[in-house]
Parts: sequence; structure tokens; C-alpha cells
Amino acid sequence: MSNPQQWLVCFDTDRIKQYLFATNRLKEIRGGSALIVGLDEKRKATLHQQRYGANQVVYSAGGGAAVLVPTKQDAQILIAEIEREFRAQTATASITGVYLQVSTTSGKFGVEMTRAGNSLRRAKASKAELATLPVEPYMRLCNSCGQHPSVCKARDGSGDWLCQACFKKREVGHKGRKGFFDQFAKSADPNTWTEDTIPDDLDTIGSVASPPGYVGFIALDGNHIGDLLGKLDTVDSYRAFSAGLWDLTKEQTFAALKSLGRPRNGITPFEIVLIGGDDVLLITAADIALEIALAIAEGFEKNSTAKVLTPAGLSEKCAKLTMAGGVVLAHADFPIPAMYRLAEALQKLAKRFCAKQNYQTGAIDFQVVTSSDTDLDAMRQGVPHYRPYSLADLRKLLEHIRQLKSADMPTSQLQAMYQALFESKVNAQLASIATLGYLGRGTDKTRYNRLKQFFKDFGVQFDGQLPPWDAHKRSALTDLVELYPFIKS
Ligand SMILES: [Zn+2]
Repeated sequence: MSNPQQWLVCFDTDRIKQYLFATNRLKEIRGGSALIVGLDEKRKATLHQQRYGANQVVYSAGGGAAVLVPTKQDAQILIAEIEREFRAQTATASITGVYLQVSTTSGKFGVEMTRAGNSLRRAKASKAELATLPVEPYMRLCNSCGQHPSVCKARDGSGDWLCQACFKKREVGHKGRKGFFDQFAKSADPNTWTEDTIPDDLDTIGSVASPPGYVGFIALDGNHIGDLLGKLDTVDSYRAFSAGLWDLTKEQTFAALKSLGRPRNGITPFEIVLIGGDDVLLITAADIALEIALAIAEGFEKNSTAKVLTPAGLSEKCAKLTMAGGVVLAHADFPIPAMYRLAEALQKLAKRFCAKQNYQTGAIDFQVVTSSDTDLDAMRQGVPHYRPYSLADLRKLLEHIRQLKSADMPTSQLQAMYQALFESKVNAQLASIATLGYLGRGTDKTRYNRLKQFFKDFGVQFDGQLPPWDAHKRSALTDLVELYPFIKS
């Protein structure tokens, strides 16, 4: 880089998730997602090829970009152009850009990027305050999102009047293999994941799930990525970090879907809503949701050093990267925006757990939704549980469920122990002991041994300490029983 004084331009898509989940229709969410992917790809190509050359692009992925330009005027023109194009394509979504003068040879590029990131956050926050436009009372609201005035009739025979944004999303969502699914199918096997296998709606995904009608919503996010970005010294290390992170997230997501998400009865049992830099949102058949979330988080952690930290020169400052995730298991008629909000709330709890572990392990929290309640605190009130789980513990829990299932553990026994959990600590102990006693009297001790091992693996010492409680009066039994129907033996 010949000129050390340059202008750093940073972009980030505003409230991308609010844009995606403004509606409850899978096809519109898919259309919105494909529009974002298309804009991302186009922006990347423009920045790389035509304008400044690949060397000036720090990163461009996941709804954001950072690029170095020679003058302040270049920066202003670029921002205006990208913001305009984005608005034209999405109608309601927007992207924010900021610029600042930087030295690329100071050896503190991470600090400059942090400064740009802060400035970007401020710009986005002030924009958000202006985002909601008043709707005049005589305007008719969009039948889909209910947020914006409707401007045209849907062309799918539904009779819906839609706003500009929902109209675009629905148009794009109807057209075949696009966006992330197209990228996935090409990398996995385009003959298996064909256009014909794409599910029409959530009910279609639910129809091939077990138990029937249930879907999973997965939200995963890399831990403390922001802190690490500040530690990067040069443009090259920043570029290596961003590209590595993006590749790793996508690669692990695609690998998990390839092995666990094969079409059933001609239907692809998942939808890729979003893959950002280190951010993943998926909808799947309920019975593969936890396995997929776990596989992605494990693969991310395992490969993070070689794929991200070493190329960026960070392997001495950080041993590995981990992920936190939230998984919601709910009936397909539960609103998608509510699933998303619950998954985010669960992800936050998992993140807090990871922070306490100094980010040395990833974690996943999950919730089975059985009522129309949409508030996590309300759902968990008075429910003893062991969540969130470290990845290793969740792997163990799933394995115990499979073991008990293959040993034909009677669900009536599990239910009896489960009910007692909500009565009192003592009743829960009595029920667990009674079940162990009952299973221990048979000639075949398999079920007894498996149940006992489960309790042991989740903190029950058995030296005067009775199941189902561990030393902190927590129990994984609730989680085992609630997940039982969703895990295949
Ligand atoms: Zn709308």
C-alpha cells in the first residue's frame, strides 16, 4: 500500500433481522434473505472488480463491508451509491455507511476498525430513531407485515394487498433456488437438493418432522468476536480474519445440513434464513434442530484456530473461537417472528454462560414451546432445569436420550418422574428413587444402568445425594424428558 493515509469506509445493514422477520410467511422471509444475499454479492463484486481492486477491500460479507478509498469525496460518493441501491432493492431495509481517515501503516488497524465500528453504531442508532414513519389513518396497511402502507396487489392470487417491501420479498421468494439455499445446494449436491424439494411453508417442513408438525428455530453466533477484532494489527490480518470467519461459518453450516438435512419424502427439511459473518439463523424439522446446532457449533470451535486465528496471527492471543446458540422447538403454526425472538433470548443466556467460562466452550440453550406463550421467563417460571448446556454436556444429553430410547425406556416412567419435579424437591426424589428401584428389580439391568448413568453424568453423586438433584439442586431430568420426543434413536 503506497499511500498510508486513506479513508476507511464501513457499511452495515440496518436491523437486518427486523427486515427479515417483519412477516410470518416463509416465502417472504426467503425472498428477503435472497435479496440481502444478492445485494451482498453485487456489492462485493463492484468493490472488488470495478472500483478499487481487491487489495483495498478489507471485507465484504454478511450484510457489511469495509473498504479503503483514496479521498474523502470517494468515500461520500460510495456511501451514497450503496445506500441508494440498497433502498431501491429492499424498499424498507437500509444500510448505513461511515468514513474516517486512517493510517494503514500504523500497525494498529484493529484500533481503527474499532473506531469505525463505534462510529457506525452511533450512526445506526440515530437513524433507527427516524425509521418509523407515521402512517396516515386513511392508508391501508400491508396485509403481510401490517407495518407499511400497502401499494400493490400480490400477483400470487392470494388477494393480499402488500407494501413495496413485502411485494418484492414475495416475488423473489417464489422464484426457485436462490440465495443461501442455492449456494448450499451447489456445494453439497444439486441433484439431491433440487428446486422441487424446497418447502412451501413451515407446515411443509413440519409435515416431514418427528413428531409431525414440529419445527426448530436455530440462532447461533460467535462469541466475543468484537473484542478480538480490536487486537488485529494490519489490513491483511483483518482481511484474513473476516474471510476466515465467514468461510468457517458457512462451511460448518453447510456440512451439518448436508449430513443431517437430506430431503425426506422429496422435501428439504430446513430453510437457511441467514448466514452472516459469524451469525446463523436456520429453520429445520424439529428432530434435527439440536443435532444441527450442535454440529455447527462443534465444527466452528474445532476448526477456528486453523481457519481463522492462525491466518490472522491471533493464535497466541486466543486459543479458539466458540459459539453460543439458542434452539426453539415449536409447532409449525407458532409465529416465526416469535420463534426468532425466543431463539435470540436463549442465545443471550447461552452467551452469558460462555462468558462465565471465559469463552473456553460454546453453549446452547433450548426451549420446547408447548403453549401460545411467547415470553421465555413465563415459560420457565417454576421449571427446574440444567440449561444452558455446554456443547460437551449437550452431546452427552442427546446420547443419553438415544441410549434410553434404544433400551425401550417406558415413557410412563419418565413422565411420572417429570411430573414429580414440579411438585416438590422431595417428591421428585421419591419418584426418581422409585423408578430406579423398579428398573433395578428386573433381570435385565440395562435401563436401570442407563438411567443411573444419566443421573451421574449430570451431577448426582449418589453418596447420600439423591437423584434427580445435583449439589446445586439442579436437574437435567426436565431437559431429558422434554427433548425425548424430538430425538431419534
Ligand atoms: Zn409489508
